[in-house]
Amino acid sequence: MHGALIVCDPPIDPMNDAAAALWAQHFREPERAYARARAFVETPSRDDSRLRAWSELTIAFHDLFFTAKPLDARDWIAAAAKDFEALGDRRGLLLAEIASARLAIVEGSAPAARDRLLSLYAEAQQILPPEDRFWLLNAIGAAHYFTDRFNGAIRYLYEALEALRLAPPSPQHPTVMSNLAAALVTVGDYAPARELADAALVDLEQYDNPQVVMFARSNLAEALVGIGDDARALETVDRMLSGAPATMPRAAQNHYLAIAAEIYARHARIADAEQCAGTARAIYADFPGGFNEVHSRWADAVVADAQGPADAAIATLEAAADAARRRNFLPVECKAWDRLAQRHAERGNFEAAYACMRELLRAQTQRMSHRASAKYYLLRVEHELSHARDERDRALAQRSEAERTNRELERLNSDLQHKMIQIEALQAQLEVEAVRDPLTQLFNRRYLDTVAPGLIGAALRRGTPLAVALVDLDHFKQVNDRHGHPAGDLVLREIGRVLPMSLRPADVVCRYGGEEFCIVLPDANGAGAAKALASLAARLRDLRVQWNAQTLGGFTFSAGIAVLGQDGTVLAQLLEAADRALYQAKDTGRDCILIAGDGPGSREAAAC
Ligand code: GH3
Ligand code: MG
Ligand code: MG
Repeated sequence: MHGALIVCDPPIDPMNDAAAALWAQHFREPERAYARARAFVETPSRDDSRLRAWSELTIAFHDLFFTAKPLDARDWIAAAAKDFEALGDRRGLLLAEIASARLAIVEGSAPAARDRLLSLYAEAQQILPPEDRFWLLNAIGAAHYFTDRFNGAIRYLYEALEALRLAPPSPQHPTVMSNLAAALVTVGDYAPARELADAALVDLEQYDNPQVVMFARSNLAEALVGIGDDARALETVDRMLSGAPATMPRAAQNHYLAIAAEIYARHARIADAEQCAGTARAIYADFPGGFNEVHSRWADAVVADAQGPADAAIATLEAAADAARRRNFLPVECKAWDRLAQRHAERGNFEAAYACMRELLRAQTQRMSHRASAKYYLLRVEHELSHARDERDRALAQRSEAERTNRELERLNSDLQHKMIQIEALQAQLEVEAVRDPLTQLFNRRYLDTVAPGLIGAALRRGTPLAVALVDLDHFKQVNDRHGHPAGDLVLREIGRVLPMSLRPADVVCRYGGEEFCIVLPDANGAGAAKALASLAARLRDLRVQWNAQTLGGFTFSAGIAVLGQDGTVLAQLLEAADRALYQAKDTGRDCILIAGDGPGSREAAAC
């Protein structure tokens, strides 16, 4: 079977020693690993340079990711990098580099950090095991988030989630789900954000990480406000602040305080809102990076707007809108312009209200476009889900074959369940997104361009076959000429309905042009694709369409098939080869399926 979803590289563990054990423990149980690492570096008599380097890295990661004092990581990162350099340990060096870029994000240099992190991507894919790769992907996601590339953030956070699928269970799982929820809230996709934040909180119950719980609750609260569930939002914020570590938490990010202030102000709990705004200001003073300024100003604005005189409210709302625009943080921009427009209108200042509405429209349009491109990435994930379901069904059929299959099956199932949580809420929305051709309801070309690279990449990585077919109906013009264009439309609609029925769920069928279709067949070689197309041809030949008391039928097509590897490794090459074969099929006399070869002489007639 194709163990695509479950078979990963054999565990890469070149350091079969205490250092490896420590780093592996850091992934699963960060607190305990941190305690051991500290104990080691504080015992000067021990002389194990490798264990020292990995202990330093463990402490650095702990400070960065699990505490409210990320800046404490700086010296540990430097020490670890120096030691890894001396040891010639490339894996350790890469991880230290990731930590250092992450620190740069906290310090306010996200754009440079993003470039540094992206430059590590290729090497990380090659030499790092999934657990380590996760840190890079998660950091790239954060760097995109803080440089207002929210669609990129969503994309890399999904990749981070993918990497975790191959890793043992860990607190990183709910953390990245919570981060994804934050990114989805930012683009205004509240329903899936709520699902993810809820799922993250359930998962977090088994770990002791109050800071992540706090962030997940803040993302949940924001999603709840977005979908209009104010009562649950208030309850969530109350729990968030009462369950937070220390008296008043001082994380390096203050977004949770802005949402708390907003919800408290909305419920007329002004003293609580003010306290949140004060802490948000203090955090902004300590950590000027990221969106801390925006959140701090927004917290001030909601407090002023709930109680202060109108002038003061307008001034603070303007400050928030201005900060959000400068830092390009769209959710607060939208909220601030919206309220400003209302305040101006209430005071009869319609010109100012109009100007704010225009700003609101601009920000909202930008937000929607981020959301649309993020959706395309989610679509790819959805597609993988159908592939995963297919894999599971195949694994089920082979269940009795071996013990090993059983274990794989379990992983596939949990994998699938996990994906279901993320995706089920999205599916309904995805249906109506602009990826389908309105006449035939097949996917359109844009969708093809979006999913094909992922499918091709996956096939190349897994070493599984993939075929691309171009299908053109024969003499279709005659249908229009004889029965009129509406009849042609009806026939196309019927064919669009029939096409996917003879194909596998994982196959992607698109309307490529007028009466041309493109089909991507994962896990099919040339012969397999030709067989699928032959059964399609039979179905089409049997198709009868009623039109004005007449029965139209006898439809045929010609097709060209290109095979991944043999005819190219990118979509454009495969389409070109399939197109050439299609034209040859037309030349051969139509009703014909040809597989492209290396040259014209080696074309093989599959069925004519
Ligand atoms: P062949 O491909 O076998 O060479 O012949 P053909 O008649 O199919 O020729 P060609 O591919 O060049 O022309 C396609 C025709 O399909 C032209 C146009 O009338 C028709 N067509 C394309 N799109 C639509 C559509 O959306 N609705 C209808 N009714 N007809 C369409
Ligand atoms: Mg045509
Ligand atoms: Mg045609």
